Amino acid sequence: MPIATVNPATGEVLKTFDPTPDGEVDAAIGRADEAYRALWDTTVAQRGAWLTAAADLLDAETEQIGRLMTTEMGKTLAAAKAEAAKCATACRYYAANAADFLADTPADAAAVGARQAFVRYQPIGPVLAVMPWNFPLWQVVRFAAPALMAGNTGLLKHASNVPQTALWLAELFHRAGFPAGAFQTLLVDSDAVERILADPRVRAATLTGSEGAGRSIAAAAGRYLKKTVLELGGSDPFVVMPSADVAAAAEVATTARCQNNGQSCIAAKRFIVHTDVFDAFAEAFTVRMAALQVGDPTDAGTDVGPLATERGRDDVDGQVRDAVGQGARVLVGGARPDRAGWWYPPTVVTDLTPAMRMWSEEVFGPVAGLYRVSSYDEAVELANGTSFGLGANAWTRDPAEQERFATDLDAGSVFINGMTTSYPQLPFGGVRNSGYGRELSALGMREFCNIKTVWVGEGGAPAGAGAGAHAE
Ligand code: NAP
Repeated sequence: MPIATVNPATGEVLKTFDPTPDGEVDAAIGRADEAYRALWDTTVAQRGAWLTAAADLLDAETEQIGRLMTTEMGKTLAAAKAEAAKCATACRYYAANAADFLADTPADAAAVGARQAFVRYQPIGPVLAVMPWNFPLWQVVRFAAPALMAGNTGLLKHASNVPQTALWLAELFHRAGFPAGAFQTLLVDSDAVERILADPRVRAATLTGSEGAGRSIAAAAGRYLKKTVLELGGSDPFVVMPSADVAAAAEVATTARCQNNGQSCIAAKRFIVHTDVFDAFAEAFTVRMAALQVGDPTDAGTDVGPLATERGRDDVDGQVRDAVGQGARVLVGGARPDRAGWWYPPTVVTDLTPAMRMWSEEVFGPVAGLYRVSSYDEAVELANGTSFGLGANAWTRDPAEQERFATDLDAGSVFINGMTTSYPQLPFGGVRNSGYGRELSALGMREFCNIKTVWVGEGGAPAGAGAGAHAE
């Protein structure tokens, strides 16, 4: 893919970039390694002060970075600003909590025949971050904030269609005070990823992206024995049971499907509705989907802007055509408009069958599949019946059913009577083809730590045990 800013609302190419040359990539890896050594000598408090400064810059420049995101990938300006604010919150969260997350964890010394035993969390070095365009700030910051707080450094290979946001991010951390090289952007295409992973100075990789990219990066990482965290696609179920508040479920379903113009990994994509409430839900949902305002993403009244890329729009269009061609019924939307830019309307499709692409593939646009089931077991079987396992939603006011869904839904998260979202405080990630590893919370921070066992016999205890190597 060419590295370029193309306005999805018009299809106009605004700016193109030459890829970072190989020699400069090598130099950047060297700087990342030096910055890692420099961070080794800093305290958690110092790194926290820099991350707090990054949060302040995000807050101060929300309008500017928000407009840039909207221009590069088409999300509404309101959503872009909210994303910048969420990034600031996550930076402050890690600045405030990293000392606790990195503090030594005592173990049962007597049980292991030691005078003292504990776990210490230490940084590992430069980490390659391969990131997608859909939340171009948030996906990066949710990796970068804990990684930098732990004392790691980051090399960002962002999606090729958000180069200016990528460059802004590298500047952000540098302007906030982190040493040169602590967080850098490489404008490279996906072919360069394996060469970067092969470099012994690069210790690990994190990818947020598609299943295909996950397979490719995991295979390359395997060749060089590098740790990976993979946050991949999803086709989250949204189950509605007879006891649910159907109006509330339909309202939330509309947001859950269409936020970010329908391009969210944790968007609800398959709406699995009990037959007792199917007609009521289908009507309420369809009315709400039809009422969404599609238009200029910078306009405050717009709910849904364009899709980010022409290829993405064509994929969604192809999935709907495939379903309709095999007998699926469109309740609203379903026709690609004839206008410049990559537009697709909010759409609800029902009467789906397993032969249709929509049944098993992720639909990355504002298109909902609506399924009818007649029992709890059928709902769970269908909900779990894809290769993905990112998030899952269930609507029921029956406490016993809530408890069963929490256990039975095979996903990295289950949200009952709500929609899947991410919080700095909660771990985030998937199972099965949605990837592995976790981001956010203390668990996310520790993914890129050396979780070191320290065992001390009667010879004496090391100085500082219990205080945390990188705490004050
Ligand atoms: P994508 O095509 O996989 O791209 C993601 C990143 O991977 C980009 O930087 C891309 O670079 C790079 N890439 C693609 N193929 C690669 C390969 N073979 N080797 C190395 N790097 C490669 O995904 P996308 O279309 O940008 O994003 C949408 C996907 O991301 C959806 O499946 C969505 O569900 C998933 N996603 C998951 C999460 C999560 O947290 N689980 C969050 C957001 C999105 P180029 O741009 O240069 O191709």
